Amino acid sequence: MIHEIGHSLGLYHVFRGISEVESCNDACLETEPSLETGDLCADTNPTPKYKYCRDPEPGNDTCGRRHFKNTPFNNYMSYADDDCTDSFTLNQVARMHCYLDLIYQSWRPGSKPAPVPLPPRVTAQDQDSLTLEWFPALTGHYFDR
Ligand SMILES: [Zn+2]
Repeated sequence: MIHEIGHSLGLYHVFRGISEVESCNDACLETEPSLETGDLCADTNPTPKYKYCRDPEPGNDTCGRRHFKNTPFNNYMSYADDDCTDSFTLNQVARMHCYLDLIYQSWRPGSKPAPVPLPPRVTAQDQDSLTLEWFPALTGHYFDR
């Protein structure tokens, strides 16, 4: 579920750029972590598609590169098992925030949040009387205050 929500918020697989390229001449081929190739995140090392919880063994289907170290197998956008994945990188988080702002901007509600009621406050009290004071409900963006 987290992996799929990552896609919905603009993330690619961490192995895009190695396993998800049209050819070895693809402009998206990721030779080093980059904001411009592969998964467009500079803090996920290039990796082939791999489902185990470790760096992949040397392979042959990766455009000449055979060894991949410090691969992001524990990243939610890998294909490793759920009990191995536990994180997004900072670049991925930033990308998701930007994607939300740019792509889903029209989904923001047009109306303001409901007013926030404030409880009355006791200003005076003795044996026979009670004096209360209250303020009108706060309106607008409460979270800005
Ligand atoms: Zn996926």
